[in-house]
Amino acid sequence: MPLRLISKILSGRCKSCGFCVECCPGADVNLPNLAQELSGKEDERSPLGHIESAYVAHAADSETRWAGTSGGLITALLLFLLSVGQIDGAIVVEADPDPNRLHLTRGVLATSPAEICNAAKSKYCVTPSMAVLREIRTRKGRFAITALPCQIHGLRKLAHVDPKLFEKIAVIFGLCCSCTMSGDAWQEALQTKGIRREDVARFEFRGGGWPGGMFVRKKEGTALPLHPGEAYGTVVNVMFRLFGTERCRLCIDGTSELADLSFGDFWAFDYADEFSKMEHCTQVLQRTTKGMDILRAAEQAGAVVLHPLPAEKISARTLAMVRGKRSRAAIQMAKRHKRGLPNPDYHVALKEPVLKDRLKHLPIELFDLLRKSSTLRSGILKVLLSPLITPLHKLRMRFLVRVSQSSPNTSKNVR
Ligand SMILES: Cc1cc2nc3c(=O)[nH]c(=O)nc-3n(C[C@H](O)[C@H](O)[C@H](O)COP(=O)(O)OP(=O)(O)OC[C@H]3O[C@@H](n4cnc5c(N)ncnc54)[C@H](O)[C@@H]3O)c2cc1C
Repeated sequence: MPLRLISKILSGRCKSCGFCVECCPGADVNLPNLAQELSGKEDERSPLGHIESAYVAHAADSETRWAGTSGGLITALLLFLLSVGQIDGAIVVEADPDPNRLHLTRGVLATSPAEICNAAKSKYCVTPSMAVLREIRTRKGRFAITALPCQIHGLRKLAHVDPKLFEKIAVIFGLCCSCTMSGDAWQEALQTKGIRREDVARFEFRGGGWPGGMFVRKKEGTALPLHPGEAYGTVVNVMFRLFGTERCRLCIDGTSELADLSFGDFWAFDYADEFSKMEHCTQVLQRTTKGMDILRAAEQAGAVVLHPLPAEKISARTLAMVRGKRSRAAIQMAKRHKRGLPNPDYHVALKEPVLKDRLKHLPIELFDLLRKSSTLRSGILKVLLSPLITPLHKLRMRFLVRVSQSSPNTSKNVR
């Protein structure tokens, strides 16, 4: 079965108005200019983008916290903003309710607390959620948006093209993002595990506790983890390699640099100090005054709990993910350039990949070849979703620790 990497096909008559091209983040995103517009600071070249403060945080309400991906912080902030009337709804992403499309996800305008809660948790699945902007164009009010880095690039471009529509966006909540997958991922995972789609009530990309993993709730009530929870990091990485989209590999923004607030996992088990106790929390990077005002107001109202995180304590995994994403993009772009294919222009000089970068990326090249064959994909999935993955994950982690200990700390000024 060939991989389908595009889930939405444009339809209807094109009026050649140029609107989509002007807002499209695909070909051209002037990251330095857009970042400067947001922060007022010129030429800031930190790998994580402009950050004013950082926190380890979670929803104060434990039900919201446990129902979230990391600490349920996004859901808690959206519920708070709705309750105080600062927003009239939020563009969020939920599982597709159509029983034949349960493995897919869709953007939705959530206007009630129940709808916001229903959309909690990360969906690692390509979702054209910005199509919901059409709905807010015709509605009164102001709305929050949860979005991935690439979508936020488009939104910041939209501010120039259609300021009236952009005014309706009260705040942009950005997710950290290393990659996302095509909708085929779930389907093939279920086939591998011998689970019939019609028996499934709900899929979760991060279910079964924290950090959680690929998880199925069956109609007859059983909850079924698809892999051992401790191997989550390896499973998701390999899934991204098998089902990640070509455009994701050309993206250099791992932390939603242009958001008001950026949210990611906080890996408590990497710390030896008081942060080691902060499992099931979200790491939030505050980038704008608007973002700070929201965090403060939500904290004062008792909706969220914030612990300041000094800059040097920001998760090493976040930094490693961003650096990995950048060098992956540099290598992919160089390859495409050689083949005469177009690349996105971020107006940023990427570090020229050296032999060491290329060697580190050999597994990606290998998976590129393997993923083309459905038989090989299915073989890899069989190992990935079996108990064998636990020792393989431990081996991989030992290797990664060695590599990170032997790598010099790249200058913060290198994008
Ligand atoms: C594709 C993807 C890749 C990610 N990669 C990383 C990573 O490499 N490192 C890291 O630290 N964190 C990553 N994250 C972010 C992380 O998984 C959590 O979303 C984040 O920590 C917030 O957790 P929370 O508990 O506060 O959010 P929750 O309270 O669970 O709320 C999550 C909100 O995001 C919305 N949402 C879910 N999926 C999407 C989507 N695809 N597009 C837009 N909105 C969405 C939900 O509707 C909900 O409103 C990724 C998220 C996604 C969706």
